[in-house]
Amino acid sequence: MHLVPQGSQPPAPVHKTFAGDSALAAKYARPGPRYTSYPTAPQFDDAGAVARCQDWLQSQSGAPITPLSLYVHLPFCRDICYYCACNKVVTRDDSAADAYLQRLEREIEQRASLHGARRPVTQLHWGGGTPTFLEAADLTRLMHQLASHFHLLDRPEREYSIEIDPRTVDTDKLALLKGLGFNRISLGIQDFDPLVQKAINRLQPFGQVAQIVDSVRRLGFTSLGFDLIYGLPHQDRQSMTETLARVIALRPDRIACFNYAHLPGRFASQRAIDRLQLPSPAEKLQLQQQVSRGLCEAGYVHIGMDHFVLPGDELAVAQARGRLQRNFQGYAVHLADDLVGLGVSAISQVGDFYLQNERELEQYYRRIDAGETALSRGCQLSAEDRLRRFVIMSLACDLRLDIEECERRFEIDFARHFAAELPRLQSLAEDGLVTFTADYIRVTGSGRAFLRNICMLFDAYLPQAGGEPNAQYYSATV
Ligand code: SF4
Repeated sequence: MHLVPQGSQPPAPVHKTFAGDSALAAKYARPGPRYTSYPTAPQFDDAGAVARCQDWLQSQSGAPITPLSLYVHLPFCRDICYYCACNKVVTRDDSAADAYLQRLEREIEQRASLHGARRPVTQLHWGGGTPTFLEAADLTRLMHQLASHFHLLDRPEREYSIEIDPRTVDTDKLALLKGLGFNRISLGIQDFDPLVQKAINRLQPFGQVAQIVDSVRRLGFTSLGFDLIYGLPHQDRQSMTETLARVIALRPDRIACFNYAHLPGRFASQRAIDRLQLPSPAEKLQLQQQVSRGLCEAGYVHIGMDHFVLPGDELAVAQARGRLQRNFQGYAVHLADDLVGLGVSAISQVGDFYLQNERELEQYYRRIDAGETALSRGCQLSAEDRLRRFVIMSLACDLRLDIEECERRFEIDFARHFAAELPRLQSLAEDGLVTFTADYIRVTGSGRAFLRNICMLFDAYLPQAGGEPNAQYYSATV
């Protein structure tokens, strides 16, 4: 293969912090995917993929037993957070949970027989919505239902996690979750500043969170994670300094800091957010830098695009060993090849297929009540998709692409195959976002803030020259 080499310097180490500038922010702020999958969700438009995947699974019945990941989507929330882009149902009606669990139980039964009930479940994640909307009896009922159809584990290496809205739990509920087998907790924090919390309709005082953190520690959960968001209304350097100080004081094991996606045309609740109170792309980039620098100085290791972990955390080890994966929850250790998503809108990744469940609650109920599968659409990866997924996920997880490995694995000449992409790669290099040689493409310290833009270069489904990706569907990359 032949690439235009960028000097003969050895590959640069990935910087712990990055230095961006407002000109780059203005140049690269454009709508783009987050690459929790490739192809991304807009390409899950093939209804025939469901039947083909089911046929393929049946043909695999004699295959060796391999580990499995499970995701369970629990969509209910008591209050709306204005920034929210999740698939959720806001209700104060507790009976909604019972109707949902009845359908979920039938789906669990169906899917266990389809995917293999004996496969050890190494990873389990309950997300939402607000999983802890469920009362204690319903949480127990659901875990028992899963355990009676899938092979759940009690080994300490399992990763069983649940997303928690701090406003919905007390020590008793946390103790119950521990007893049910969860060993990882992820708390939705977003920001500690009262003005920001008011603007997003999510009031949760620091003292309330600190108490939960204390209970989580005392109960002996293996890992505590915080979700933060930058780019929210009223956030500035001062408010972020205070939020970071409070986060660091509580010292969670993992922190995910997401870029707020303002898409009011798509998510009605976001219309309650005053656009004029939102930071500009350049200010967002500064906030992102501030978070990255602050957390790295506090001893956290930067993982991929937007995760930070304490040294020694499994994600840091996995990144060093090239076993990091990006999935619908962000970054994870690769413990299973297949992910089975259960519940309304849940996405599964099985073999060469991505499949998504019915996204509307009524339609989900209708399918389950009729004895049908809840899977409604998806896509089957082509050879070209698999190659591009490897390239994109290598950049998103490892911040580099080993070109020789890519050529060997996919039997291609990289420079010939990606001839159309190389001039644009050169342009990224001129902006200091990547370096490339005949052997590697590496994301620089500055480029980390633009990882989504770098990945977009290899996305065959985006308009590459001239046109813009769909601004209604994708959030701004910066
Ligand atoms: S952010 Fe979470 S708790 Fe808030 S409405 Fe969305 S899913 Fe519900």
